[in-house]
Amino acid sequence: MIELGRHTKSRRDILDKVERISEVDVFACYQCGRCSGDCPSINLMDIMPNQAIRFLQLGEVEAVLSSKTIWVCASCFTCTSRCPKGIDIARVLEALRQVCLRKNIDQLDLNNIPEEERERYPTIAWVSALRKLSG
Ligand code: SF4
Ligand code: SF4
Repeated sequence: MIELGRHTKSRRDILDKVERISEVDVFACYQCGRCSGDCPSINLMDIMPNQAIRFLQLGEVEAVLSSKTIWVCASCFTCTSRCPKGIDIARVLEALRQVCLRKNIDQLDLNNIPEEERERYPTIAWVSALRKLSG
């Protein structure tokens, strides 16, 4: 059961990841609805794009992650081009897909790797591994 308006640590962590991947501040949205107005996939969605952003603001991350919306989005960027606040909603939806595919599981944590082991490999190798193995 999702509690409205609550940002538990795990929800906050997921939202942080979505904002980090998309480089979008979802709290800049003021719910004008223009992003949803011209979305070509709207009839296939269970949550409209502006509602998805609102759910994120309310901490209801799971509702968005489990929605059809993020998968039927055609990545056409119409919503992004309509937003008066310059919010790149298409990138937010892409970030949500990535979080889903990665399952939000960190299989690699550099804090658990001894320093001498870390120094054996080039930084780029660690960056690459973190991209693939962290949620
Ligand atoms: S167009 Fe932008 S400000 Fe308006 S509801 Fe959509 S994301 Fe929010
Ligand atoms: S990018 Fe996705 S959410 Fe945005 S208008 Fe296109 S189909 Fe709709």
